Amino acid sequence: MFVYTVSFKNVATFILILYNFQMRRLTSNANRILLLLNVIWTLCLFFSWILFPYTETNYRSNRHNKFKNGKDTSLATVRRLLRQKYPNDQGLFSTYFDSELPVIYGVTPTYTRWTQKADLTRLCQTFLHVPNFFWIIIEDAENKTTLVANLLKNCGLPYAHLNAKTDQRVKLRDSDPNWAKPRGVSQRNEGLKWLRKNADSKEPSVLYFIDDDNTYSLKLFEEMRFTSTVKVWPVGIVGGLKFEGPVCKNGRVVSWYTAWKPDRPFPIDMAAFAVNMKLFLSKSDAMFSNDVPRGYQESHFLTKLVTKDEVEAGANDCSEILVWHTRTEKPNTKQEDKLIKAGKSSNPDMEV
Ligand code: UDP
Ligand code: MN
Repeated sequence: MFVYTVSFKNVATFILILYNFQMRRLTSNANRILLLLNVIWTLCLFFSWILFPYTETNYRSNRHNKFKNGKDTSLATVRRLLRQKYPNDQGLFSTYFDSELPVIYGVTPTYTRWTQKADLTRLCQTFLHVPNFFWIIIEDAENKTTLVANLLKNCGLPYAHLNAKTDQRVKLRDSDPNWAKPRGVSQRNEGLKWLRKNADSKEPSVLYFIDDDNTYSLKLFEEMRFTSTVKVWPVGIVGGLKFEGPVCKNGRVVSWYTAWKPDRPFPIDMAAFAVNMKLFLSKSDAMFSNDVPRGYQESHFLTKLVTKDEVEAGANDCSEILVWHTRTEKPNTKQEDKLIKAGKSSNPDMEV
């Protein structure tokens, strides 16, 4: 469509130039005025690409020409470059990539549970809408599973598939309440190790921790994309509250709205902040620990990077909820347990 618009514009301009050239010889006043108007219109057509580069038609045709001349990174080129850079990743790189935008590296711990594939499918399909998104998934397992490997392969995002088993000393047992032990610590640290090795501090990018069962608005990713230190925002349905997080004014945090352990240096959820990659890479001791009191993971990590005054406010001065700490319900397994007891469990080859 825009190719047609471009050629129509080119032809129109060309005809007008010819016409002006012809009209030059005519001398009546009416013709002179017509000629002048025509010259102005021709010039407007000529320079509209430069003067108004962001009208839709001009933007498209400018980009089109840039792609054509090989000066810009077309999707095909980006896919090829990413394949060269991450040769072991089989992702289809079918997402939109813009070389002028910072990359978002999402770090997701995950572990085998009945709801895992559903949760990861939902995340994949959210992130496919996010330009320049790179997914780092770390399985809490001795070995990588084929379920996660295939899911990533078929998802279409560029990714790194890693694994790191949680130390038995701190592993949550089925009988434990979920808050009894830290969750995702070794996995996030494994993701951070990968970034320290693979991320380029000269390439603008941002780091975000993404639990596998939360809900993310696409708008959140555009909020975090340009983060120069650490950017924060409130999170919905967390900490026993309808929402919890920073209270902001003019782009800065003035206080924290929280009910639980308000004395924490950063009383916020893992989903409430993103970090500039260069800043993260410059602090080799920024990581998570199994030995910090409950609720202090975020503070432990963030105090290595910034003070409260250096933090930036996201989500419209912290006035919007763009991420929700939803939690996938533990499914009822009663009938399956009965079948297993009777030696007639569901088809084990069916991947769920
Ligand atoms: N997680 C993990 N191993 C575990 C428990 C949790 O890797 O033994 C991951 C989980 O997949 C999620 C994150 O750690 O991405 C937080 O866990 P969960 O969602 O269960 O915590 P909650 O929602 O209760 O804070
Ligand atoms: Mn969760």
